[in-house]
Amino acid sequence: MIHRTQVGIIGAGPAGMLLAVLLRRAGVDCVVLEWRDREYVANRARGATVEHRVVEMLRRYGLAGNLLGRGAVENAVEFRLGGRRYPVHYEPLAAGRSHYIYPQQFLVRDLVDAFLAAGGDLRFETAATAVDDLAGQPLIRLADGSELRCEVVAGCDGEYGVARGAIPASALHCTDYQYGYAWLSVLADAPPSNDCVINALHESGACVHVRRTPTVSRFYLQCGQADTRADWPDERIWKEIGIRLALDEPWTLHTGPITATGTVRMRSLVCDPMRYGSLFLVGDAAHIVPPVGGKGFNLALADAEELALGLIDRFTTGDHGRADAYSDTRLARIWRAQEFVHWMMDLVNTPGYGTATAPFLHRVQAARLARLMDSPEYLAAFLTDYVGW
Ligand SMILES: Cc1cc2nc3c(=O)[nH]c(=O)nc-3n(C[C@H](O)[C@H](O)[C@H](O)COP(=O)(O)OP(=O)(O)OC[C@H]3O[C@@H](n4cnc5c(N)ncnc54)[C@H](O)[C@@H]3O)c2cc1C
Repeated sequence: MIHRTQVGIIGAGPAGMLLAVLLRRAGVDCVVLEWRDREYVANRARGATVEHRVVEMLRRYGLAGNLLGRGAVENAVEFRLGGRRYPVHYEPLAAGRSHYIYPQQFLVRDLVDAFLAAGGDLRFETAATAVDDLAGQPLIRLADGSELRCEVVAGCDGEYGVARGAIPASALHCTDYQYGYAWLSVLADAPPSNDCVINALHESGACVHVRRTPTVSRFYLQCGQADTRADWPDERIWKEIGIRLALDEPWTLHTGPITATGTVRMRSLVCDPMRYGSLFLVGDAAHIVPPVGGKGFNLALADAEELALGLIDRFTTGDHGRADAYSDTRLARIWRAQEFVHWMMDLVNTPGYGTATAPFLHRVQAARLARLMDSPEYLAAFLTDYVGW
C-alpha cells in the first residue's frame, strides 16, 4: 500500500520530533516513522546539556515549559587537575546566559506529546528500509512492505539510519576523525556529587561528571578503544572515578548502583552536502561530535529548526530559498562546533592516551587550562562556544 505526505520524517529523536512539531504547527503535512517503540524512545538516556541558544529557541516556540520548570540551571563548569579545583563561573561574561540540564529523552517526550496532541501522524515500530527516487518525488520503503510517497524526506535517523546511505557515494563527501581512545559512559543511581559539570584532567585519563537528575549521575572515563565492560567491573569504575576526581580538600563522591554503561567511540564526522535532491540530512544522520562540550543534541535541534523554517517557506509560500540554503547555512555552524569540540577534546582528555607521548601532551593540557584560567579574552571565547550564544 502507498501512503502520501508532504514531508516524510525518518526518526523520532530530537531532530525528527522538533521538525515534526514545527511543520505540523505551520500546516505542513508530515509523517514520522520510528523503528523503536514509544517506551524505548521516551527512556533512551543520552545527552542532557542544553545550550543557551537552544533553550531560547524552544522558549520562542512555547516548547520549553517542562525544560524551564524541571531542568536545572547550570552557571559554571569545573575543571580539576592535580587535586585542585578550577571553577569557571559564567558570570559576569555570560550576561545572564546559562546551560540547562534536561535529559534529552525528557525533551523528546515533550515533543512527542506536543505532536500527538496536535493530531500528528507518528508511527512507532515502523522501520524505514530504503529511500528511493531522490531526484523526483521520493519514496520511503517500510519494513512491512508498504511505502510512503513524499515531496521531501528528512533523514533524522541518526548515525546508523538508512537516509545517508540512500545518497550515491559520489554525491556525498564524508570526512571523519577518530580519536585514539574511547569513553566508558556510566549511568548510576547516585545523587550528583557536584552542582555543575566536572572535567577532570588526569594523566591516567579524563573523568567527566555530569548531573542528570537529583538522583541520577553520569560519569565518563577515558579508556582504551578496545576496552569492554568486562575490563571495567563496578569496583574498578568507582575506584578510577575516585582517583581521577580526587581533591586535596574534603569532598564526597556519591556512589550508587550502576544502571547502564556503554563505550562511546570518540569520533567526529561531517557529511557534505546535507542535502541530495529531495532528501535532507538532519542531526546525527549528517554529523557526529564526541560528547565533550555537549554539542550533538544541540546541533541536531538547530538543524531541525533551520530545515523546518526552510520547508515552511517552501510549502506555504513557494519560496525555496531558505531550504535550498539549508546545507550551507548549517555546515558553517557545524564546522565551528567541530573546531570547538576538537579543541575541548584536547583540553579535557589526555591526548596520546596509552602512548609514549601522553606525559608530554598531559603537560600541554595543563598549560591550556592555565591559559584559560589566566586570560579573560580566552575565557570569553571559550564561553561563547561552550554556553552557546
Ligand atoms: C552517551 C551519549 C551522551 C551524549 N551526551 C550529549 C550531551 O550531553 N549533549 C549533547 O548535545 N549531545 C549528547 N550526545 C549526542 C546526542 O545524543 C545526539 O547528537 C542526538 O541524539 C542526535 O539527535 P538525532 O535526532 O539527530 O538522532 P537520534 O537521537 O539518534 O535519533 C534518531 C532516531 O531515528 C530512529 N531510527 C534510526 N533508524 C531508523 C529507521 N531505519 N527507520 C525509522 N527510524 C529509525 C532511531 O530509533 C532514533 O529514534 C550524546 C550521545 C551519547 C551516545
